[in-house]
Amino acid sequence: MSTTVIIGGVAGGMSAATRLRRRDEDMEIIVLEASGHVSFANCGLPYHLSGTIPGREQLLLQTPESLKARFNLDVRVNTRATSIDRTNQTVTTDAGETFHYDNLILSPGAAPIQVPGALTLRNIEDLDAMKEAIEGKKSATIIGGGFIGLEVAENLAKRGMEVTVIEGGPQVMAPLDPEMAAIVAKRLTDNGVTVITNTIVNDISELDTDVVIAAIGVRPAIELAQQAGLATNRGIIVDEQMRTSDPNIYAVGDAVEKRHANDGELTLVPLAQTANRHGRLVADVITGRATSAKQVLGTAVVGVFGLTVATVGWAEKTARAQGRNVRVIHLHPANHAGYYPGASPIHLKLVVDADTDAILGAQAIGEDGADKRIDIIATAMRGGLTASDLADLELAYAPQFGSAKDPINMVGFINDNIVGGEKTVQYHEVEDGWTLIDVRTPTEHHNGTIPGAVNIPVDEIRDRIDEFTGDKILVFCQVGQRGHTAASLLRNKGIEVANLDGGYLTWSLAGGA
Ligand code: FAD
Repeated sequence: MSTTVIIGGVAGGMSAATRLRRRDEDMEIIVLEASGHVSFANCGLPYHLSGTIPGREQLLLQTPESLKARFNLDVRVNTRATSIDRTNQTVTTDAGETFHYDNLILSPGAAPIQVPGALTLRNIEDLDAMKEAIEGKKSATIIGGGFIGLEVAENLAKRGMEVTVIEGGPQVMAPLDPEMAAIVAKRLTDNGVTVITNTIVNDISELDTDVVIAAIGVRPAIELAQQAGLATNRGIIVDEQMRTSDPNIYAVGDAVEKRHANDGELTLVPLAQTANRHGRLVADVITGRATSAKQVLGTAVVGVFGLTVATVGWAEKTARAQGRNVRVIHLHPANHAGYYPGASPIHLKLVVDADTDAILGAQAIGEDGADKRIDIIATAMRGGLTASDLADLELAYAPQFGSAKDPINMVGFINDNIVGGEKTVQYHEVEDGWTLIDVRTPTEHHNGTIPGAVNIPVDEIRDRIDEFTGDKILVFCQVGQRGHTAASLLRNKGIEVANLDGGYLTWSLAGGA
């Protein structure tokens, strides 16, 4: 009988343990977990702070007893693995116990980066401490405007606390491009959260607040692997079978470096679905199945006061930093047919490699349907579809769910038009000496336009064609669609113009850049 020891009993570790048992009834499976709980819902922790998830017990998905009963696992909580002896294939714990392994799986996760004196949120013990610290308190400051910081901010605000988010970078939600992150920041401030950017907190005692919580990122827990002499970089290095530099030791989850699907380079993606999938995969490898991990896309989603904020792959800034020739598309379609009650906009951005038409990434923000669109794009990316292929995806449609031309089809159409020669200009290129023509209605124009723009509504263009003179004309409307109609009309008349991508709305979201 072989023995597999697993270090870390939550997302990746427990997925591995239960899959191992499903594939091998005889294997001895020992799970060592440093905290007091296994298989808890770490992603649900922030929602208990507001009572959205009312019961603490709802976060405790399994116990050592339930895992023994169903899966015959030997789960040890409050048990930290302190060293690995690779020669003798043993793991020693803080209680001095030693376990022999035939195969060892490391899934120790990533620890929150600490700010002295501030609370952090990773496990049930942290949650208990945070609940105690905020009890009866009026104000809280969150250092860090990423996924976890914003989830904590929202849930503390829902408790009625005055909440401030202090972010060291120029925007909240670093994985987004700035004009998209601006939508998130506005939603926070509209809900009473104070957002301060470009500010590094060096000393929390200078903050005028009752409670300080740090959510400035996580650091892969690689110490044990390093001590054991395994190859590490920023995370533990593994091959496609999640095998470390020791053939009997595997590693999964936040502690591990993955390869990014866009360029095959090493990257950290500390997300639950990757940890869970790789946990399952490593159990398959150990039990003899020929399988290998795919490169990662970093698909992620977070809720912010009713907004769904979803992303996959690279942002435009990342793609440009990687030196890619980038094509960018912004659009702001409704989540479903506008005539059906309750339609709301989705702000959608696609980042495309202009040389190959490969989709490099996408961001979507909206009240409803943003996650669905990002999941479609993530699936398209995994399947190797190009941006133009999105035009021809056959997606489910009825008025309350989508549009006959779904936002995903629309972004494919726009891409197709650009590939076909239509010129678009990004919000940050407006300054480049263009003659600006606002093709919206006079009312829209008077309510706010780009400085220097002349108003020629799209329906008047045929009668006012003589007014389109010069060789650098940029038309724009609210979101880009009437601009596209105007540009097409003018092009058919032999007048070359460009259309402002995403229209006045994208330009405004970017702060009128
Ligand atoms: P973990 O699930 O963190 O498990 C590692 C475990 O190993 C820990 O419990 C730790 O105690 C234990 N351990 C470490 N060292 C040792 C040792 N030496 N001996 C014994 N045990 C050890 N991801 C998403 O995709 N979506 C979300 O919405 C989301 N929300 C999140 C919200 C919060 C508040 C947090 C903290 C994380 C969230 N995540 C989310 C991230 C997600 O939880 C992680 O990506 C995932 O849990 C990683 O799985 P893992 O197995 O690598 O590590």
